[in-house]
Amino acid sequence: MKSVGVNGYGTIGKRVADAVSCQDDMKIVGVTKRTPDFEAQMAVQNGYPLYISAPEREGLFEEAGISVKGTINDLHDMVDIMVDCTPEGIGAQNMEVYKEKGIKGIFQGGEKQEAIGHSFNSFTNFKDAWGADYVRVVSCNTTGLCRTLKPIDDLCGIKKVRAVMVRRGADPGQVKKGPINAIVPNPPTVPSHHGPDVQTVMYDLNIITMALLVPTTLMHQHNLMVELESVPSIDEVIDTLEATPRVMLFEANRGAGSTAEIMEYAREMGRPRSDLFEIAVWKESINVDEGELFYMQAIHQESDVVPENVDCIRAMLEMEEDPDKSITKTNKAMGIVG
Ligand code: NAD
Repeated sequence: MKSVGVNGYGTIGKRVADAVSCQDDMKIVGVTKRTPDFEAQMAVQNGYPLYISAPEREGLFEEAGISVKGTINDLHDMVDIMVDCTPEGIGAQNMEVYKEKGIKGIFQGGEKQEAIGHSFNSFTNFKDAWGADYVRVVSCNTTGLCRTLKPIDDLCGIKKVRAVMVRRGADPGQVKKGPINAIVPNPPTVPSHHGPDVQTVMYDLNIITMALLVPTTLMHQHNLMVELESVPSIDEVIDTLEATPRVMLFEANRGAGSTAEIMEYAREMGRPRSDLFEIAVWKESINVDEGELFYMQAIHQESDVVPENVDCIRAMLEMEEDPDKSITKTNKAMGIVG
């Protein structure tokens, strides 16, 4: 049983903590918070040993009546690996501390590839993280692109990908981000960073992406145009995606024609926090024309990277050599389809 710590019990961190807790080969030995907010309170209520990530702020937790087990320095001594889920840029700073302490670290997509040195997706390069010390799980958008592009590449070979990403302006709980009433090319330059990010885990893929921010909080949405080496039938593509773990096909004509309805489906599934760990592909959008494949998909940004964090732990701690076995094990424990 491997001991895992989560540094930063926020949107991603609390989900990673729950996902690790339901596996039978790893356990959470502690989570950290910097601020004594309701998430810190919930961490304690959920039974996670809570540690303060900024020891000088201990008094704030005392004032708030939130009991902590110690500081992050105590937690460092207890873990086989730290899953760092702190805000963008903080993880890279923390990596230096993990190095000093001799502990392994997983980082999230907000960290730069150059800062961490190696990136991960369960389906594309699991084995390259075998025994590694510091690895970054690619972002929610990149994870979504990899989940569907990898099986398509395996089916018929990809010549090149062009994708337009419609990104949520903020997560549901974020009140200080936007836009509220605008469509914002983000970045206004082409390509966006998403294509190069995919290339950190699908090394030879020819991909260019463009991205927009829109006033929604529920999901990201992607529009893909994929030139292929060999031309499959639409049914072959549908069969391939239906057989792909962590991908779900939705039909607009069965009431799932929008991100709002897909998230309503996730609520009906009774998942914790209404999460949809799977990538949602609209079945009707799949089309093949003159050797080019078209499809549309949606990404639940708060949760899709979470199972990848679990697989990444297994690869880095040399717990399971076969990616398919890790993916199946993670999925089964988390109730993920496929
Ligand atoms: P978040 O703000 O929801 O949570 C971050 C947590 O870290 C909070 O609990 C906060 O209190 C804590 N924290 C803040 N400063 C800290 C510090 N200096 N040291 C330790 N802890 C600190 O952020 P998030 O959305 O969970 O994002 C975390 C990482 O995951 C980022 O790299 C982000 O880019 C990436 N990511 C986010 C999403 C998403 O849609 N939210 C999706 C995929 C990847």
